[in-house]
Amino acid sequence: MIDIENLITQMTLEEKISMLAGKDLWHTVPVPRLGIPSIRVTDGPNGARGSMGSLAPTSALIPVGIAMGATWNKDLVERVGKLLADETKIKGSHILLAPTVNIHRTPIAGRNFECFSEDPYLSGMLASSYINGIQNNGAGACIKHFVCNDQEYQRNSMSSKVEERPLREIYLEPFRLAMRHAKPWAVMSGYNRVNGAYASENDHILKDVLKDEWSFDGIVMSDWFGTYTSDVPAGGLDLEMPGPARWMSDEMVRKALLSGDLTEDALDDKVRRLLRTIERAGAFQDPELKPDGSADLPEHRAIIREAARETIVLLKNKDNILPLSLDVEKEQTIAVIGELAGWATVMGGGSSGVSPHYQVSPFEGVRRYVDERANVEYSRGCRVHKNLPSPDLSTVMSEEGKPGLTLRIYDNLDFSGQPAFEASTTDRLGYGWFDDSVPNVTQERFSVRMTGYFTPTESGLHSLSLASMGQAKFMLGAETIIDNWTNSIPNTEQRIEKQLEGGKTYPLTVEFKWQGNRVWRALRIGHMPPQPANEMDKAVELAKRADVVILVVGLTGDWEAEGYDRVNMDLPGDQNELIERVAAVNPNTIVVLNGGSPLSMPWIDKVAAVVDQWYNSQECGNALADVLFGEVSPSGKLPTTFPKRLRDNPASINYPGENGEVLYGEGLFVGYRYYDAKDLEPLFPFGFGLSYTSFEYSNLRFSETRFTENQTITVSVDVRNSGERAGKEAIQLYVREKAPALVRPEKELKAFAKVDLAPGEKKTVHLKLDREAFWHYNPARGGWVVEPGEFEIMVGASSRDLRLNGNVTLLPNRGKERLNTSMTLRVILADGGGRAVFQKHFSEWMTTPDLQHALDLPVDTIATLVPHVLTPVKLAVLAEELDKA
Ligand code: BGC
Repeated sequence: MIDIENLITQMTLEEKISMLAGKDLWHTVPVPRLGIPSIRVTDGPNGARGSMGSLAPTSALIPVGIAMGATWNKDLVERVGKLLADETKIKGSHILLAPTVNIHRTPIAGRNFECFSEDPYLSGMLASSYINGIQNNGAGACIKHFVCNDQEYQRNSMSSKVEERPLREIYLEPFRLAMRHAKPWAVMSGYNRVNGAYASENDHILKDVLKDEWSFDGIVMSDWFGTYTSDVPAGGLDLEMPGPARWMSDEMVRKALLSGDLTEDALDDKVRRLLRTIERAGAFQDPELKPDGSADLPEHRAIIREAARETIVLLKNKDNILPLSLDVEKEQTIAVIGELAGWATVMGGGSSGVSPHYQVSPFEGVRRYVDERANVEYSRGCRVHKNLPSPDLSTVMSEEGKPGLTLRIYDNLDFSGQPAFEASTTDRLGYGWFDDSVPNVTQERFSVRMTGYFTPTESGLHSLSLASMGQAKFMLGAETIIDNWTNSIPNTEQRIEKQLEGGKTYPLTVEFKWQGNRVWRALRIGHMPPQPANEMDKAVELAKRADVVILVVGLTGDWEAEGYDRVNMDLPGDQNELIERVAAVNPNTIVVLNGGSPLSMPWIDKVAAVVDQWYNSQECGNALADVLFGEVSPSGKLPTTFPKRLRDNPASINYPGENGEVLYGEGLFVGYRYYDAKDLEPLFPFGFGLSYTSFEYSNLRFSETRFTENQTITVSVDVRNSGERAGKEAIQLYVREKAPALVRPEKELKAFAKVDLAPGEKKTVHLKLDREAFWHYNPARGGWVVEPGEFEIMVGASSRDLRLNGNVTLLPNRGKERLNTSMTLRVILADGGGRAVFQKHFSEWMTTPDLQHALDLPVDTIATLVPHVLTPVKLAVLAEELDKA
């Protein structure tokens, strides 16, 4: 144990201030004089990337956030969390920058794929399991992005304008739940502003809520470069990332101290939190920073495959076409169609990206599973990419004759002398370098050369591209085919078409140089072979003669990414047409969705089955085959509503905002809360997902039906697998307040559990509800309020498939403040003491029929209706007497 207080007393002001910003992109600043070591953080959330950016050794790639959300399985998510702790440590890191718990407010937000759900409870509980999995196994979690960072459009300046009640009940709630159930070591502030103030310096959310109310004792770090003003030092932020300091500089912090905006105590508090986090990371005992490692472990593969299977949601299964059966006698042909069947998207774009150890495509997964038992054929059908994909590795060869290219990085601008970094073969043909992530060079000035040979397979008109942040040129032989050296738009793809001969080998060189600041540099080449004019026809031909079609469609990391939102919910390119045409010739068409958020499905009535596999990891194709062929029943359920049209989404009329502000005008009515309130039919509701078996719910019972807010009750329900296959079921419990004082959603998810049942097996599921299952936030009463009254408990298979329900009564507490004027008259009169107070003041009125009309209104509301009778003075008297009654 380190004596942190003692350490603080020994630190100079300069040393204290030095710790308030990162050392570089991923490390904290050490104080060697006092033996304070540096710790390392790494992205997150779908794996641990390590500190070497695009050049990092490979990592285990887990399903992305929304896919984990679809598992509804806390235990599984916790086991994946343990794997992430292993991975974080393998990368020599201490803290994983994850999980992301922003809310799916609109289906087109660019980072929906990273976030669990539209529902704060599902998000918060899964986040807690994820964090516990990490933190019980020797690494730390940094929950992000705090808060209301729910869209990418203008993310560095946009102010989310949100009322206190939805802020608490929806947007802060996943964070609060994680604080209560998991205690993350760190919180990352969002890029955005919340009600006008930048999240990284917003006193209300960082100081009042997070640190004071929730007693958070870890560190608040900024999102990368997400600090903006001189108010930062005096605010709730503890660590500005990355370093070196911009606003947490020695000069700025001293200014804040001088002006009194920052007190010494407040400075010490930041330092104390940082030291506590370094201690939690075990770095005082083991200060040495380890290099980035990589380990593709069989136990990691197994847990990822299990998780990936559980992410898959079966949305439609006409005539039980799924699971597919293989009959060798029949010599079946299975057509696997779609560009994403050949190379599925396994992550959205942006900072969460890792280089996976491997990735099994749907085609590969199906082919391996089927083996010799049927004929599996592939056809692309149409292209999905936005930017050109990297050249296929079978077409490029490095100087040493291996698939890939040779990479040399020089610590000068003219490729001279010995390279500072060299990879004789690399299969990475695209790079994004953040800050100091280019190895061994002066980050502000270096050059890069990639060399090798390009041997296209077909003759014809090829498309080639180059995108760079920095000067670059792309050469084939001696000819510069794309010149971004003298003239280019930063990071924008330049494309050309060029006649090339199939089978001919062209020497290939890409040169790049950078001179400027170190924030972001990038280089990427792309290639697309000649497009057969009849590519879609070929897929349709294949579909026509196949027994069954597995058609994989969706998005790519260019279409769905951090940094920008999608423009609509549609499948890009000609994918809708491809589905229509394939389904028209083959009634056994199974559509597999590969995306990180809701997609529109104009063809839904024409296809036999639809499954959503999201971006579900390096095991994507294996998991898909496991589900399609019935090795396991699908058990994923939607963690977000799929609306019929984007405009049905409650945020759509205020999205993306104007004049720097996005109004969260739908208030509490986010996701299913809105579709319920408007009685609007979504395409697929929240919590929905089919199985190959069926489940019967029975015998709903409560440990108590009348209880006070200090009690925790147990709701029990029997669930039986009434079908013929084994399967898992996610059981959902929703709560409705019958006569709320304030407006409340029709129902809210308050508990869930997943059970595994053999055919015919029955299990009793126990779900616990404490006061938080019933409360709401009332700003006028300064916080969370548990209102005595009647509540309906609904249990079922989805938010629109509730099988059982029952009522419970929350009684006023015995003792202090058990009655107050925000309660309904019915509740107050049900209590002897409360009745006596009303008898005393309103004995006459108590006998009139008016009373009946007012029974289900809170007394505060009655006062606004009859202000001449229930005057403010009278109300105050009532409040006082009720309090003591
Ligand atoms: C993202 C964070 C991420 C950070 C570091 C930012 O752009 O918003 O989620 O952790 O970069 O890569």
